[in-house]
Amino acid sequence: MDETLEFADEIGPAKIVHVYEPSVGLRGTLVVDNVAIGPSIGGLRMAPDVTTAECFRLARAMTLKNAAAGLPHGGGKSVLYGDPKMPAEQKELRIRAMACALRSCDDYIFGPDMGTDERCMAWVRDEIGRAIGLPSAIGGIPLDELGATGFGLGHAAEIGARYCDFEIEGARIVVQGFGSVGQHAARQLVRRGARLVAVSDSRGATQSPGGLDVDALLDLKRAGKSVADHPDGQPLGRDSIVEVDCEIWIPAARPDVIREDNQAKLRAKLVVSGANIALTDAAEEKLHARGVVCVPDFIANAGGVICGALEYAGATESAAFQAIEERIRANTEQVLEESRRRSVAPRRAATDLALRRVKTAMSYRRWSIF
Ligand code: NAD
Repeated sequence: MDETLEFADEIGPAKIVHVYEPSVGLRGTLVVDNVAIGPSIGGLRMAPDVTTAECFRLARAMTLKNAAAGLPHGGGKSVLYGDPKMPAEQKELRIRAMACALRSCDDYIFGPDMGTDERCMAWVRDEIGRAIGLPSAIGGIPLDELGATGFGLGHAAEIGARYCDFEIEGARIVVQGFGSVGQHAARQLVRRGARLVAVSDSRGATQSPGGLDVDALLDLKRAGKSVADHPDGQPLGRDSIVEVDCEIWIPAARPDVIREDNQAKLRAKLVVSGANIALTDAAEEKLHARGVVCVPDFIANAGGVICGALEYAGATESAAFQAIEERIRANTEQVLEESRRRSVAPRRAATDLALRRVKTAMSYRRWSIF
């Protein structure tokens, strides 16, 4: 069967576009999954090894995330094949060529993702006018610098704790991955009185039952070092961070870090997902069965896209942060309440919530099956 039909279902994808311009080395794919709610928003990922199927999965995740966040946008994603660390002029040429090739796909708005940043979005905006996550000099809200996603995670954790038997004040938190999302999530929770007892990055991990100094860790990262170089922490194997006893565990690095085969090692009461698909579905089911509350990624980490969508609509930074707070708190509450009432894992409740919104929007369209 044609690869593109294998993953088609009642929701999408609406469109798959492959673009090719050999003179500048451009090879790219756009998947617009669903636009019933509005023009799709999703990141442009640059990597040598992505596939159309992966691009579709990422586009579907955006459909659910944008619908759950109550944004007037559908879901899409684009991939540009190539090494994101290629020489800057070559990268600029390819990204500009990608934007031009997709000029007429006005149901897709570009955003930053792995391998692309605000500068790349400025090039896209310069070519076709449709991009979010722009530099502040051209009206952007610098969401990574301001920590939009970590800000949202702090609110999701606050609501999540109400569904467990602990308070944020005094809670022990563990953060896997100390980049933009992990750093801001740690800061947000420490500010509320939590203790960061372990943290990792790609080069190692460190722990301290009494609590690590977040500012000292930030200084280390700014100096190009690893969190494992923290002098006051005790060394810890990078992947042993899964086993550290805590109240809140925050994945903010890679996909599939908690799976069926290692979920039993997790000693947390609440998991608030910063990274996308950090937990497999089977692991989330098992954690739910043993009473661990997991706030799904597309509910907890929607701060970045909410910020980007509001930037696109011309909102101010403070309006964007207010929207993140309101929407993430309301959605986390709704999902955990429904999970409790129906005795299903929070991911099931969250997916149902998002699909209900998408299908309602689809029912207003001319060719509706709902
Ligand atoms: P980043 O590149 O700034 O940081 C990633 C961090 O993870 C780095 O500290 C890196 O050293 C660490 N890391 C990499 N491999 C690791 C490993 N095996 N073990 C421990 N640490 C490891 O990225 P980011 O923007 O913070 O994004 C992190 C995750 O959150 C990604 O999955 C991303 O897709 C997702 N996400 C980001 C945003 C956003 O606003 N930036 C929004 C939604 C979701």
